[in-house]
Amino acid sequence: MTNRYYIQTFGCQMNKHDSERIAGHLHECGFKPALGLEQADVILVNTCYVREKAMSKVFAYLGRLRLLKNTRPDLIIGVCGCGAQGEGKALMERMPWVDFISGPQEVLRIGELVSQVRSGSSHLAALSMPDLDFEKLPLVQPHRDDSLKAWVTIIEGCNNFCSYCVVPFVRGRERSRTARAILQECQELVGQGYKEVTLLGQNVNSYRGPGRQTYSFPELLDLLARESGLGRVRFVTSHPKDLEHSLIEVMARHASLCPFLHLPVQSGSDPVLAAMNRHYSIAHYRDLITAVRSMIPDIGLTTDIIVGFPGETEHDFQATRSLLEWVRYDSAYIFHYQVRSGTAAAQMVDSVPLEVKLARLAELVELQNTITLEKHRALLGKDLDILVEGPSKRGQGLFSGRSGSNVIVHFAGNTHDIGLFRTVRVQEVFAHSVKGTLRSSTG
Ligand code: SAH
Ligand code: SF4
Repeated sequence: MTNRYYIQTFGCQMNKHDSERIAGHLHECGFKPALGLEQADVILVNTCYVREKAMSKVFAYLGRLRLLKNTRPDLIIGVCGCGAQGEGKALMERMPWVDFISGPQEVLRIGELVSQVRSGSSHLAALSMPDLDFEKLPLVQPHRDDSLKAWVTIIEGCNNFCSYCVVPFVRGRERSRTARAILQECQELVGQGYKEVTLLGQNVNSYRGPGRQTYSFPELLDLLARESGLGRVRFVTSHPKDLEHSLIEVMARHASLCPFLHLPVQSGSDPVLAAMNRHYSIAHYRDLITAVRSMIPDIGLTTDIIVGFPGETEHDFQATRSLLEWVRYDSAYIFHYQVRSGTAAAQMVDSVPLEVKLARLAELVELQNTITLEKHRALLGKDLDILVEGPSKRGQGLFSGRSGSNVIVHFAGNTHDIGLFRTVRVQEVFAHSVKGTLRSSTG
């Protein structure tokens, strides 16, 4: 029997990294990657549960896998991640061609589940959430696709229970890794030639490194900047209620800590923020933005916004619009509110009609697109230091990379630029990226 796996990932960077851990686990169990669905003996679908739309994509994909399974009955199909945890066994009742499901805390049991299915078991569910400390989990070497940029988890789970959000229910309580383990993983990545690491957590600011010496998140960043040897460190996601001034200071102090902050605001209205259980006011949020910009003037700022939260009035929406105009984010992920069962907001009246939600969404997207383009235009003639990642998606023999502030930059380069830091002068701008010419080598 051949042992080839294929993983299809939906959702956030954390899910993408979980898929790398699942791949690493499967390699340890003797599996090899399949080149495509057709060659796979085991297909895993790693799912996102945050919005209903994400789950409908998963169901559509699983529907297509049914056809494949009809032609190859020995094919094993597993659904893992947040969607598996959220839907539970109902998923296999609805889609009986799925052989097993496993939640985000059970990904390292997938090898065992595949063996059980091969021995004749069906419709297995591994959904326990023991919230184990990292040190108690089996170590797994992630199997990473990228050889320059890596994700490193620093904290799992979430304790915030924002009223709209299902994440705390499917990923469990917060658990931080020790600073030592994180530093060691980063140093190993440097040894393997990695140039950039993105630290992952639902709320990195509540990181509290356990162990003999405890570390706050700013202290962890300081440690990594001093001792990891990484050229660049980024992190997502920051919760505004927990962002300390010491974080801004440490970012300003170290060149390797990228001038970039994803700081989801969700709404520009205090009453809506209170109903969302976010625990900060817009005045506080604006103070944070002012402090960050005064200490790190070239900071790249992005956010998440939900429009049409229960009770959101036109006045509340206009407050969100004003906030976007005031902050002038580099980009924003804007969603319309979708009820998630089990959350506190599911008990509230979903008062904003869908067409109003969609109109507000479209209005904000248009506003943000205008701002993003204006910000790109302001870069014309300026030099950006980028890490060259590879051939550009725009083709034409171009190469591309990102600035520390996360702007995508295209330029006419060479394969030997890949993995190096280069300076590019911006000469043309687009909606989602800029283009320029190579100035010099910076490292
Ligand atoms: N931990 C991160 C990411 C959470 S999920 C954070 O705190 O920002 C990513 C984004 O999805 C959220 O920031 C929010 O904007 C959006 N989101 C979450 N639940 C939602 C819901 N029920 N409806 C619409 N958008 C939602
Ligand atoms: Fe969800 Fe809020 Fe936790 Fe982010 S901080 S994962 S939005 S509950």
